[in-house]
Amino acid sequence: MIEIKDLHKSYHMGNNSLHVLKGINFNVKEGELVSIMGSSGSGKSTLLNILGMLDEADKGTYHLDNVPIKNLNEKIAARYRNEFLGFIFQSFNLINYKSAVDNVALPLYYKGISRKERTEKAEHYLEKVGLGPWSHHLPSELSGGQKQRVAIARALASEPKVLLADEPTGALDTTTSYEVMDLIQGINDEGKTILVVTHEDDIAHMTKRIVNLKDGVIIDDSTVEQVRAKQNV
Ligand code: ATP
Ligand code: MG
Repeated sequence: MIEIKDLHKSYHMGNNSLHVLKGINFNVKEGELVSIMGSSGSGKSTLLNILGMLDEADKGTYHLDNVPIKNLNEKIAARYRNEFLGFIFQSFNLINYKSAVDNVALPLYYKGISRKERTEKAEHYLEKVGLGPWSHHLPSELSGGQKQRVAIARALASEPKVLLADEPTGALDTTTSYEVMDLIQGINDEGKTILVVTHEDDIAHMTKRIVNLKDGVIIDDSTVEQVRAKQNV
């Protein structure tokens, strides 16, 4: 589903440049649930943004569902992004003056789906994340965990091949974080490929595979069982 080879990325600010990704190689198969870990500034979001086609690498190759992602014009990039990818962010990124159902339905509007079908799909995915009764509430009337559920429903409504989540539990308390990860696990159980960026060990342990970034390279890429076995030594 995702294949990246020798990915490099630097940021340039005036005369300074910062080499953030220094040759990243990794593949994600369909149906995997992977976490990307690393300390603050290690390049997790940089990597996720490249995977999400929100940014481009300087060097290396990226194939998404066998499609080479390189030098695409913005129109085609936007089409692939809509077709392939769903995003979940730490800060939920909901529109405050729109109800839950309207937040979930909005991206479907940009896909040219009819009003009736948009509403049906939005209601369906809100049910799925356990927010059926809350569909007409505004974000300000929802808890953090509920807001993140709306954001997850919104990401699912486009029926993407891959879900990319950047610190989805970063703004939530521990119990709510586990609940949101339970939901993410359930969505993965149904076959969705999901990548979760987190700096929290217990969150990473709720995925199936942990990729550890440090100083611009992957220093470890193991299944959760392998990580547990190493920690018990
Ligand atoms: P955190 O856990 O704090 O979210 P991260 O692992 O996601 O960190 P990145 O956001 O990928 O880290 O940033 C990696 C490095 O690149 C940091 O030193 C950051 O300051 C720098 N950086 C990120 N985005 C930009 C940008 N647009 N311009 C310049 N430097 C950037
Ligand atoms: Mg980050």
